[in-house]
Amino acid sequence: MTECSEGPSGLSINHPAIWDIDQFEANWSVFLEALMKEEASLLIPSARIRRQIEHCEVFLEVHSNWERMDAPHRLSAWKRLLVAAEEACRTVLPVCVGCGECCRMASPTLHAEDLPLLKGGKIPWERLITLRKGEPVRSPFDGKPFILSEERIKVAEKQGSRGCVFLDSEANRCSIYADRPLQCRAQACWDPIPARDAAELPFLLRRHIFEGIDLLLEVIAEHESRCGFQSLSAAFEELGRSKGENVGEVLDLLSYEEHFRRFVSDKFKIPPQYLDLLLGRSFGDMAALFGFRVLEEAGGARCLVPEGCEEQGERFCGE
Ligand code: SF4
Repeated sequence: MTECSEGPSGLSINHPAIWDIDQFEANWSVFLEALMKEEASLLIPSARIRRQIEHCEVFLEVHSNWERMDAPHRLSAWKRLLVAAEEACRTVLPVCVGCGECCRMASPTLHAEDLPLLKGGKIPWERLITLRKGEPVRSPFDGKPFILSEERIKVAEKQGSRGCVFLDSEANRCSIYADRPLQCRAQACWDPIPARDAAELPFLLRRHIFEGIDLLLEVIAEHESRCGFQSLSAAFEELGRSKGENVGEVLDLLSYEEHFRRFVSDKFKIPPQYLDLLLGRSFGDMAALFGFRVLEEAGGARCLVPEGCEEQGERFCGE
């Protein structure tokens, strides 16, 4: 609760009896934040609990009538609201309240049974990316980092966030709700078991998607053998060990992989927006995983800039 001080009438100016609707809302936010810190389970997003509380009858009634109430009624309404909020916070309803938090925290990984959604055009291919074997990822269950022992196909994330590209953030709506993938259908923030069960089912792989198109399967295999994630990881390790001396090795790999992508796109007439699915993310995009940004200088030379060091001008450039 915000700090109290005395008003001219002797009433505390932070007393519910004299709040206008803006002060009511501001104090409600402060109260909820404190309540959720105390009560909320780590697994259940606080935005979900807030939405549940704000959709309960008591809140809707008190909020919509607040400005019409006299002082004694406001006080008793506020007390009723606090009791209802504490109850709602402890009893998370087993229903989706549409807060959108699970879609904001991660995009789904696809399973083999999602393939008809791709083939039927329900999930456009340019919205998918492949995370390749060896890439570091985080568990959707406990957030712990681990290394992928097998590739995964994922729906892309919105730029600069971990949120799913299909989430309409304003309306908290999924734009492909009727055709959402298995993981989304199993997800329930109040009960992790269905999502854990779904994670046991076979995942979708590129060889399922491109089955029968031998040419593309060969391109994927060639890319893996020439531009495997391990090679990038080893080059960045060497960069660290040599304190930036061996930057040429990383830059050569970035150019080679870029060249490979361009060649595939031109030769097989594959639009560039499908390459993140066909070949995984570009090495240039993946530099961020190692804490670097690729900078192209005026003459076309490339440098690696350590994240957070742009201002200081720190960079590693090739010959
Ligand atoms: S596909 Fe739809 S339900 Fe699934 S994470 Fe994206 S927005 Fe949410």
